[in-house]
Amino acid sequence: MQYIDPHIHMVSRTTDDYETLAKMGCVAVSEPAFWAGYDRGSVEGFRDYFEQLTEFEPKRAGWYGIQHYTWLCINAKEAENVSLSREVIDMIPEFLDRPGVLGIGEIGLNKNTRNEATVFLEHLELAVRTQSQILIHTPHLEDKYQGTRMILDMLSGDSRIDRTRVLVDHVEEHTVRPVLEEGFWAGMTLYPVSKCTPDRAADMVEMYGPERLLVNSAGDWGPSKPTAVPDFIMAMRKRGHSEALIRQVVYENPLKFFSQSANFEFQVAK
Ligand SMILES: [Zn+2]
Repeated sequence: MQYIDPHIHMVSRTTDDYETLAKMGCVAVSEPAFWAGYDRGSVEGFRDYFEQLTEFEPKRAGWYGIQHYTWLCINAKEAENVSLSREVIDMIPEFLDRPGVLGIGEIGLNKNTRNEATVFLEHLELAVRTQSQILIHTPHLEDKYQGTRMILDMLSGDSRIDRTRVLVDHVEEHTVRPVLEEGFWAGMTLYPVSKCTPDRAADMVEMYGPERLLVNSAGDWGPSKPTAVPDFIMAMRKRGHSEALIRQVVYENPLKFFSQSANFEFQVAK
């Protein structure tokens, strides 16, 4: 089955991974900007990273017939450096009109600190000003519930934000409901060590229906599995769900969400 992985960090994966994804039916990926495992020291470090995301990575994906899209931001893990964050936020518009740039992301919270909230709100301001879509990271484990609530409150506090153009990612059983009920898109991340498993994601599709729900691998440099979306497809098939329902979640939904971005020029694979 053809599918799209709406959240994967291919800069930290190998070219062999692209080949494997293509063999498994992946036709497009979207790659949010994220933390490299160390704090970048200057705005120039981010400019180089954004060059990589918008120039080289789409090329490398294209070698295997995969379309590559991206999102730009400074990650919440680096938001404690508020002055650097502001320099990066000021620089992002240089890249926003490039082909394949879908919007601002993955912004969000990590430890739910005041500085993280400040930088999150300044990213929202940029997104509103440039009419960009937004992709949001919600915190891990013990910080997730409170962090998700804080994020939803900040989003709801700004009437200029169009909720149908915002994806709140890494939802789990205790956070998916408010995200969907308040009109946002929700992403379920299939991770081997935390977040969601394919079966838990299937449970959530059964409980809430497929509308505005996405699944992704969030494959990165840590323990993660870039082929996790096909695992979800298998889990859904084992439960006897229709191909049409599965396809809606792994292909049509990301297409529908991304199509709201001016720089999303999807080529339907033959
Ligand atoms: Zn991520």
